[in-house]
Amino acid sequence: MLPVDGVDYTAQLEALIAQIRAKGVRDERVLNAIRQMPRHLMVPPEYRSQAYIDHALPIGEGQTISQPSLVAQMTAILELQGTERVLEIGTGSGYQAGILSLLAKQVITVERFPRLALRAYQTLRQLNLPPIIWVMGDGTRGFPPFAPYDRIIVTAGAPGKPPEPLLQQLSPKGGRLLIPLGTRHYQVLTLFIRHGNRYTTRTFGECVFVPLVGKYGWKPDEV
Ligand code: SAH
Repeated sequence: MLPVDGVDYTAQLEALIAQIRAKGVRDERVLNAIRQMPRHLMVPPEYRSQAYIDHALPIGEGQTISQPSLVAQMTAILELQGTERVLEIGTGSGYQAGILSLLAKQVITVERFPRLALRAYQTLRQLNLPPIIWVMGDGTRGFPPFAPYDRIIVTAGAPGKPPEPLLQQLSPKGGRLLIPLGTRHYQVLTLFIRHGNRYTTRTFGECVFVPLVGKYGWKPDEV
């Protein structure tokens, strides 16, 4: 990894990977994707020294870059083989989108704040990653032009149940939707798997995400 501002982050990154492994993520493809993502370039300069500590950090507009171990866990749950079309709702810094781009065939990511979407695009295009499709708008509506999706990952917390358009835009052949469901301040990571018009669900741990705001999410005056 290239030094930035005279700092070589390689050792910090390796220590973070060891922590993520200790927390139970053993998928080497996922860990390698984390290893290739320069998180210090995806946070505001004043937070660069904390980029490889396992916590969320502010990225502007009241939003955050997610905690690396949670990003790793969620990515592992998607069980990507490299053939999938993936829709991400909540681009934020682009950290999760970059990781997905290394593990899936096609990544489409949607962000409601244009300024964050633009910054993520500008940062990631310098990294020589596989191409990503960047969309600005309300991701609770999904993104119909590329549906159906083999995987949909929502990186913001939704109230109670998932947005209906996301369930509809999931591939009927084993498509998976991973979404934090709950209250404004606390959610349960929930996986929906679609077979035809049947959906099975599985829950994983508790998590805390910034709210999913949109037509089929929280209303702006509720957050
Ligand atoms: N995946 C991001 C996490 C960002 S935090 C990362 O790796 O950095 C969640 C993001 O979801 C925020 O940027 C927020 O603005 C965005 N978001 C919230 N509601 C949204 C919606 N309805 N559509 C698109 N993005 C949304």
